[in-house]
Amino acid sequence: MSVPKKRVYLDYNASSPVHPEVINHISDALNVQGNPSSVHSDGREARRLVEEAREAVAALVRVSPKTLTFVSGGTEANSTIISAFKNTHSASSVLGSEIEHPSVLVHIPQGQRVPVNEHGLIDLAEVENAARMQSTPFLFCVMLANNETGVVQPVNEVVDLVHKYNGLVLCDAVQGLAKLPLHLPDLGADFYTFSGHKIGGPKGTGCIVVPNETAYSPSIIGGGQERGKRAGTENVPGIRGFGAAAKIVAEQAHIYQDNTMRDQLETALTQARSDAIIIGQDALRLPNTTNIALPGTPSGRQIIKLDLAGFSVSAGSACSSGKVEPSHVLVAMGLSTDVAESAIRISIGPDVEWADLERFVTEWSTL
Ligand code: PLP
Repeated sequence: MSVPKKRVYLDYNASSPVHPEVINHISDALNVQGNPSSVHSDGREARRLVEEAREAVAALVRVSPKTLTFVSGGTEANSTIISAFKNTHSASSVLGSEIEHPSVLVHIPQGQRVPVNEHGLIDLAEVENAARMQSTPFLFCVMLANNETGVVQPVNEVVDLVHKYNGLVLCDAVQGLAKLPLHLPDLGADFYTFSGHKIGGPKGTGCIVVPNETAYSPSIIGGGQERGKRAGTENVPGIRGFGAAAKIVAEQAHIYQDNTMRDQLETALTQARSDAIIIGQDALRLPNTTNIALPGTPSGRQIIKLDLAGFSVSAGSACSSGKVEPSHVLVAMGLSTDVAESAIRISIGPDVEWADLERFVTEWSTL
């Protein structure tokens, strides 16, 4: 009888496995019957779980817990801030980089998108040009790190330029959480968005952080929860899980922020196939992300073959997987169609072992 091959999950930027300790916390929270808004002791117990989680997530990004609002994930967080701005001003008052996540990009009219260079970095001169042209209040969206290439954006510089022209900055920091040391007050943006399932928390959790408590009108209203910023009974088990994951990644920051294994993988991949191209290699990138092209071998075909061999990787963002279009991020970087259509993303996490990656390299190199 043949032994089934161990599956190897290499798609942490799409979603990460829920940490076993987090599962225990979620399961305990499911047994808390109270509503966090109720004043009796059952309600107060549910409230305690929510507030402990708020403290843990806030501590991870070095902000005051009162500046953090729990929502259902990164998409809701981005949509809330951008929709609030569009409702008060106009669609054309929202600008941002060409490589934003679709949950941001969908709100930015074509003419308001700022290009990136061949390394995947936002063009700061173009940020300034765009900001200078605004005559009304504007919101500039810049992600902390790109989900596909891992390229880390110069958020500080963007903030300085946008603030110089009286704009506000939304930083989608979903992919930076855990993988980069974060001290939000130093980054300087006005709004930040995060997602719990990228750091070993449950899917359907996330938050908005507004360090200086800049006002915005919430999307979901009709209850006083989350200080009136997000109505509806809190997702207590999910929030509890997000908080527990935040604590774990804070304790294991040295593991999450170590790029040794990623670098070893890239060396092995390029030694195995000299025709491979690592995308964004010369830029500062997330320590867990490799985007690699094998010109001539379409990414869809690579993903299917790798899946059959037991490896989960993706092309583009999870939201666009299934579609065979080249990624908007790689196109924005000016890569040729041949390169863009043959790129896959390998994103690793703390559970991945070197032996698994060695097997991966062997399988991938024969594609
Ligand atoms: N922003 C970025 C950069 C992401 O990578 C993602 C998810 O892949 C999101 C936003 C959306 O987050 P969520 O899946 O929690 O809605």
